[in-house]
Amino acid sequence: MLYMENIKAKKSLGQNFLKDEAVLEHIIEVAKLSKEDVVIEIGPGHGALTEKLAKVCKKVIAIEIDERLIELLHTKLVGNDSLAGEVEIVSGDILKINFPELVEKHGLIEGGYKVVANLPYYITSPIVRLLLETKHSPTEMVVMVQKEVAERIVAKPGAMSILAVSVQYYAKAQFLFTVFKQSFDPMPKVDSAIIRVTYSREQKEQDKEATKKFFRIVKSGFSAKRKTLINNLANGLQLQKKVVEEKLVSLGFSPNTRAQELGVEDWRKLADSLVV
Ligand code: SAM
Repeated sequence: MLYMENIKAKKSLGQNFLKDEAVLEHIIEVAKLSKEDVVIEIGPGHGALTEKLAKVCKKVIAIEIDERLIELLHTKLVGNDSLAGEVEIVSGDILKINFPELVEKHGLIEGGYKVVANLPYYITSPIVRLLLETKHSPTEMVVMVQKEVAERIVAKPGAMSILAVSVQYYAKAQFLFTVFKQSFDPMPKVDSAIIRVTYSREQKEQDKEATKKFFRIVKSGFSAKRKTLINNLANGLQLQKKVVEEKLVSLGFSPNTRAQELGVEDWRKLADSLVV
């Protein structure tokens, strides 16, 4: 640990290390892990969370991009008898490694796995997208993201965004608690929050074509912020405004509705009724 503290945090890698014991304990508490659980952690950093995870679950597979930390993480956590669970450190970039292969290699398809992590903020959205869309998604993730992003992910109709629709299409998202910026070293500019994302297998198995159509419609709907949904959909999908208006009104919405007012179920119904 002493050596790790001498390694200067790299801002470019989103390195804000969690130093608050109480927050680390709180994450472990809300993750509700058992000795049967295998956890994938993205960005173990100095291993503060990794160590606590390994005390309560069967195995932690921790993926870290910063080569300076790999050997130190090994020394601290791999083969450490004081930890009940096994720790494996994977050196690599979460967005470049073959993630489905990693899941398959560790035999996690049948039993499933969870993701618990303090995510590097500069790539939060691509990581969330990867975990939602990958061949073998985790059953659940308990992750720290910027507070503002957490609020956007769990938003309700009236404040929806493409991010909220994308997450809620596949999963249930829940805001758990705020983590103040003072809990990190170095201190970031903004507060963070822990969210829980629980996957629904049923939704994961949706037909690929229907999913493609759904997101095509959602993207068109959100394309121009100031315009109404009817205008965005008519322009983006080359549909007659009248047709879009009829469908929208039949769902109980006014013609002036904006994209942020629709929940995932509304988008689903709209997508089912539009021919594009
Ligand atoms: N888990 C530690 C904690 O809670 O203190 C560190 C969290 S820090 C916010 C994010 C971590 O993700 C850093 O260790 C950083 O090096 C790592 N990281 C950044 N980009 C990554 C990537 N593309 N793939 C894997 N790890 C990455």
